Amino acid sequence: MTDLVIGTKNKSKLKEIKEIYADLPFNCLDLGAFQGVSEVVEDGSSFAENAAKKASGYALQVGKWVLAEDSGLVVPILNGDPGIHSARYAGEHGCDAANNSKLLHELSKYPAENRDAYYICVACLADPQGKVMVLTEGKCHGRIIPEYLGEGGFGYDPLFLVLEYHQTFGELSSRVKHAISHRSKALAKLRPSLWQLLSNS
Ligand code: IMP
Repeated sequence: MTDLVIGTKNKSKLKEIKEIYADLPFNCLDLGAFQGVSEVVEDGSSFAENAAKKASGYALQVGKWVLAEDSGLVVPILNGDPGIHSARYAGEHGCDAANNSKLLHELSKYPAENRDAYYICVACLADPQGKVMVLTEGKCHGRIIPEYLGEGGFGYDPLFLVLEYHQTFGELSSRVKHAISHRSKALAKLRPSLWQLLSNS
C-alpha cells in the first residue's frame, strides 16, 4: 500500500483529515512517524502559498507523498481577518480561547447581519521530491454568534453558526461537519488526483 503522509502538526486537523479520508486504500502516516521533522514556516501571503509550502516542505523532509492544508476563518466586515493569521490571531500560535475572545471583541459593535463569515481550506498534494502536484479549495459559509455553543470541533467552531442547521460547528456532530465543511470540500476535490497519482506511483 502506498504511503501518504498527512503534513500537519495540528492534532485536530489530523483527526479530521483521517476521518474524511478513512476509506482511502493508502497507508496514512502522521509526521510523528518520522524523526526530527522541523515545522514548516507559514510565511506565505495566501492560503494556497502556505498549503504548498507545507506539502512541499514536509515531502522534502520525509521523502514521501504529502497531503497538507492551510485553512482559516475569513470575516468580511473585519477586512478578511483573521484570514491566514487564524491560528495566531491573538498572538500565541494555536491558542483557541484567546483567538475566540479577540474575535468576539472585534465584532462586538456589529449586529448579527454583519457578522457573516466563512471558513476556507486549501489542500495541497506534493510528490516525494517536494513537487506541488495539486491544489484544491473548499469554503463553508456561516455567521459568528456572540456566545459559545457546543464542545465539538476546534478553533472557532463554537462561535461558527451554520445557518441552515441552526447550530454551530461546536454543536454539530463530526459526521455533519464532514458533510459540509471547507476541509471536506477541498479534500473531496483532491480525491481524483490522489487516486490517480498514488495508484500509479
Ligand atoms: P493553519 O494551521 O495556519 O492552517 O491554521 C488554521 C487555523 O484556522 C486553526 O488554528 C483555526 O484557528 C482555524 N480553523 C481552520 N479550520 C478550522 C475548523 O474547521 N474549525 C475551527 N477553526 C478552524
